[in-house]
Amino acid sequence: MTQRVLDLAIAALETIRENTDRAPRASKTALARLQAAPAAAARPIALRTAHATPVGAVESAVPSVDPDAPSKAELLAAIRERVRACTKCAHLACSRTQTVFGVGNPDAELMFIGEAPGIDEDQQGEPFVGRAGQLLTRILKAMNFAREDVYIANILKCRPDTPSGTSGNRPPTPTEMQTCRPYLVEQIELIRPSVLVALGAVAVEGLLGTRGTMRELRGRWHTYNGIPLMITYHPAYLLRNQAPSEKRKVWEDMLQVLERLERPISDRQRNYFL
Ligand code: SF4
Repeated sequence: MTQRVLDLAIAALETIRENTDRAPRASKTALARLQAAPAAAARPIALRTAHATPVGAVESAVPSVDPDAPSKAELLAAIRERVRACTKCAHLACSRTQTVFGVGNPDAELMFIGEAPGIDEDQQGEPFVGRAGQLLTRILKAMNFAREDVYIANILKCRPDTPSGTSGNRPPTPTEMQTCRPYLVEQIELIRPSVLVALGAVAVEGLLGTRGTMRELRGRWHTYNGIPLMITYHPAYLLRNQAPSEKRKVWEDMLQVLERLERPISDRQRNYFL
């Protein structure tokens, strides 16, 4: 196990411990292996110091990069495979067409979080591809981002089931969100974006465990695990409520995001209405 993977595993465990009622459990054998790993990872540097450093030379304090360390994309792919096989919510595992993991740039500086796949996402296996997704893509374009530049994921990786014969989507339950949340926590820990954007009150509840009205929550900065978090309306809300004032609120939230990312903002962007 490389030091980098170990750091990521420890960070993910710490996040789980901070954000769930139940502390992560590990066997004595697993703990012993984890405790032994840092020493093993540090050994090559110690050996270089003892045997390879020329007399009088100063050993660099910067750890060498392990060329065999998995990339972020590879680590994300490993989580994706676990999600693909996940049956923790038996009812959703039965009803889904496929899991919807997330899409975008593993090195994204901006990450969007929605609530759960809808019928279009369930069919296509990608988040935010329906009408609300198309609006999100337009918002990104107005911000001078392509979908491939950012990372987009949901709290829930499976579509919440609905009674047979009915159409439409339903919001995920608190239990479903609690069950699936660790996958999102891992995604955020790996990507470590500069800014997170939570889309809608359900996404906020799933991410922070906080219930509140969007009027209270949106338009100001929050923090998730040290990462600045902007809360704004879900694009589906804007499709239901076409009032220019509501669209402008979302755009003003996005202007704050651009400022936080130190992106140039043109006059045209400042005066833009979605
Ligand atoms: S919603 Fe999440 S936890 Fe539940 S079955 Fe799907 S992937 Fe697993």
